[in-house]
Amino acid sequence: MRINVITIFPEIFDILNVGVISKSLKNKIIKLDIRDLRKNATNKHNNIDSKPYGGGEGMVMMAEPIVKTLKQIKKKERGPVIFMSPQGEKLDQKKVKSFSKLKNITIICGRYEGIDQRVIDKYVDEEISIGDFILSGGEYAAVCLIDAITRHIPGTLGNKDSYLKDTFSNGLLKGDVYAKPESFESMKVPDVLLSGNHKEIDSWREHNSLLKTFIKRPELLNDVKLTKKQKKLLEEWASKDIL
Ligand code: SAH
Repeated sequence: MRINVITIFPEIFDILNVGVISKSLKNKIIKLDIRDLRKNATNKHNNIDSKPYGGGEGMVMMAEPIVKTLKQIKKKERGPVIFMSPQGEKLDQKKVKSFSKLKNITIICGRYEGIDQRVIDKYVDEEISIGDFILSGGEYAAVCLIDAITRHIPGTLGNKDSYLKDTFSNGLLKGDVYAKPESFESMKVPDVLLSGNHKEIDSWREHNSLLKTFIKRPELLNDVKLTKKQKKLLEEWASKDIL
């Protein structure tokens, strides 16, 4: 997958050269093409922003450098143009999965008070938010998006099933996990996980994942196709008022 990024801070994307995503970059599972917006500044002072028309606080990124940069990316390598924005559709695992199937995608990162609305109106296909809070730049949101997308591309994770078992992939939270040692500050790893009985371990994990979702994120259960067994457990927990 080719991921084009338009930004005034290319160096922020160096952070992707760490951990599992760096391997995907090395193995060319993803190709990052970071375009420095300042190269298309409108004057010798490197300006890419100006005061907002009508007055008011802050600066606004001008349309011309952004569109010029966008047009320098070959059309067939552009894919949908995404603007990272707190005003966009909130990103979730479903959306990430659908992005991961694309061959190309282009991400515009805003700064200051955002970008000239005319860029959004004419060139942006989708605005994507990573949550209801304000960041100082779209780069951090883009890094999250790129990391999440890359996890879904076959070859990124060591165990190919790994992302399928992630929280949200089947609509539920992933169950509790434990590492060495068996006993830590008098807290023990649940016996079943040490039993070696894979059937019982799977069943414990399913139960634990459902219970965790019921306690922490019950609204997620509305979108899950539950088995009879799961429905029965949920009814039981609801009637016992276990919260
Ligand atoms: N003043 C603007 C926010 C500007 S924040 C407003 O009130 O709507 C500067 C830039 O950071 C934005 O243009 C956007 O690209 C990015 N950004 C901020 N919060 C974000 C979020 N929650 N998700 C995605 N991008 C975000």
